[in-house]
Amino acid sequence: MSPAPDTHVRLAVIGGGPAGLMAAETARAAGIEVDVFESKGSVGRKFLIAGKGGMNLTHGEPKPDFVQRYGSRSKEVGAWLETFDADALRDWARGLGVETFIGSSGRVFPSDLKAAPLLRGWVHRLRESGVRFHVHHRWLGWHADGSLRMDTPEGERAIRADAVVLALGGGSWPQLGSDGAWQPWLAERGVSVAPLVPSNCGFDIGWSDHLASRFAGAPLKPVVIHLRDVDGHEHARQGECVITATGIEGSLIYAFSGMLRDAVAAHGSTTIALDLTPDRTLDRLRSDLARPRGSRSMSEHLRRQAGLAGVKAALLHEVLDRDQFHAPETVARTIKRLPLVLKRPRPIGEAISSGGGVRLEAQDEHMMLNALPGVFCAGEMLDWEAPTGGYLLTACFASGRLAGLGATRWIDRPRENGTA
Ligand SMILES: Cc1cc2nc3c(=O)[nH]c(=O)nc-3n(C[C@H](O)[C@H](O)[C@H](O)COP(=O)(O)OP(=O)(O)OC[C@H]3O[C@@H](n4cnc5c(N)ncnc54)[C@H](O)[C@@H]3O)c2cc1C
Repeated sequence: MSPAPDTHVRLAVIGGGPAGLMAAETARAAGIEVDVFESKGSVGRKFLIAGKGGMNLTHGEPKPDFVQRYGSRSKEVGAWLETFDADALRDWARGLGVETFIGSSGRVFPSDLKAAPLLRGWVHRLRESGVRFHVHHRWLGWHADGSLRMDTPEGERAIRADAVVLALGGGSWPQLGSDGAWQPWLAERGVSVAPLVPSNCGFDIGWSDHLASRFAGAPLKPVVIHLRDVDGHEHARQGECVITATGIEGSLIYAFSGMLRDAVAAHGSTTIALDLTPDRTLDRLRSDLARPRGSRSMSEHLRRQAGLAGVKAALLHEVLDRDQFHAPETVARTIKRLPLVLKRPRPIGEAISSGGGVRLEAQDEHMMLNALPGVFCAGEMLDWEAPTGGYLLTACFASGRLAGLGATRWIDRPRENGTA
């Protein structure tokens, strides 16, 4: 059902992702009439995709560590999590009949690992509570009189709202609905917006045809990444990554993707070093490789003495020339610090999430935009980022809840008139 032209609604939540739905649920629970407008034919499409490889809802680590995952925004996001944290999220899922468990990595999953039952149950509960859904309704910005421009199946409509929650998502996987088209509309209205950039993304390196054709998709594990951020601080961590046709991706790269992206932006490219044998010291490798080789090829010698084969051996070939490949000291050092030059992040459309967006300074502690009283923002469209591990969804839920509370407070405030 579409609202009639020039409809007046109480709270318009625009964007039916986890942040918008949580804002809708919170405001509705406080007795507010809520209309959710969603450009796609159904809500929560990215939430569903997030559940494809095992829905990672949140993380079980202690709160101080959890909060640090939001990097330079840990103070602000930490404040959001005061109202709704990982435990609250697990309780909320339980309220929908979905139990969760903490995996060996500390990540928290629904017991069936799926997103669909959770989303189905949630949307059902929202409808039952009286939240009205309007799919195929695409917000196009504001009319000069402050009403919302809404593209609907029946044509463009003007919608007035006492309060608006914008939960439009970032810029990754735009085919799922969050395309970042809102950036200029907010900027034109005086809202400070940092350009959306890829986060939790892979990077291009530019492999030889041989490596790309034979090893694209090959996992690289375990390895230790060594890198330097734009401020010159060194970072190292053990984990796993994956060789792609053009470069490298995977959880270890995603964990540092913000730093790597910023370093590429500052210097044109950035070099990481991979330790291909974290369990062998350089001295051990030296003595392993010093053993007599006999008539065996260097590749066979590497395999037998250093356990290096497959994609790891191919990477050595990739960075060393023929003479270097036959110099044991150079080979040993390169195994411990394989240099890879990252040329550019993969496009934002391929990234798991995005950084940039509405600057947190542009809104108050109730998530209301300073430049647009009565308009609240939540979720990934805000300027924060975090690695994969459930931190993204947790912050989306928490900020959505705060925006719902803020919008309720705004609508219920004592006033003469309060049209957003
Ligand atoms: C492949 C993949 C896997 C992921 N896995 C995980 C995971 O396991 N754990 C985790 O924590 N996070 C994961 N994420 C990230 C997580 O899904 C997002 O951070 C989260 O969905 C963002 O929520 P949101 O509500 O802010 O925005 P979105 O979920 O993007 O929702 C925004 C909604 O707004 C709608 N919209 C946009 N513009 C308009 C408009 N103009 N008018 C009307 N509607 C509009 C969109 O159609 C969309 O439905 C994953 C992401 C991807 C792509």
